Amino acid sequence: PPDREVLGRATWTFLHTMAAYYPDKPSSMEQSTMKSLLSSFSQFYPCGHCAEHLRQEMKVTPPKVESRKELAWWMCGMHNKVNEMLGKEIFDCNRVDERWRDGPAD
Ligand code: FAD
Repeated sequence: PPDREVLGRATWTFLHTMAAYYPDKPSSMEQSTMKSLLSSFSQFYPCGHCAEHLRQEMKVTPPKVESRKELAWWMCGMHNKVNEMLGKEIFDCNRVDERWRDGPAD
């Protein structure tokens, strides 16, 4: 099976970067495409129990796809749920653009 840590880091990089570059004002088509992308993603993510956990979390807190900011914030919250479960540090979601879009201020 795939290395859960390597797969996880690569996947979070993809998910947060995708959210960071999602439109500020997505069309209704873009919103529904993003919803189905995330739903499909949670069906096929190649770590069975991770995917199961993600589907549960998405039932409780459905994806927020109304804007880039909301999606980036939602994704950060999902990642923090996993961080919490694994005993990792909680990430400050106010810094999500700095980490995944703008880079650190100099
Ligand atoms: P990662 O958690 O991979 O984070 C990578 C980088 O993202 C960090 O260095 C940090 O800069 C940044 N970051 C951290 N938190 C946030 C945040 N909240 N918002 C934005 N950026 C952040 N592993 C398991 O063992 N069990 C599971 O059930 C499990 N479920 C997973 C579910 C999903 C959907 C995904 C994508 C991964 C899952 N993983 C799971 C893998 C796990 O989340 C980590 O990716 C893996 O343990 C490697 O951790 P890491 O410490 O290298 O950093």
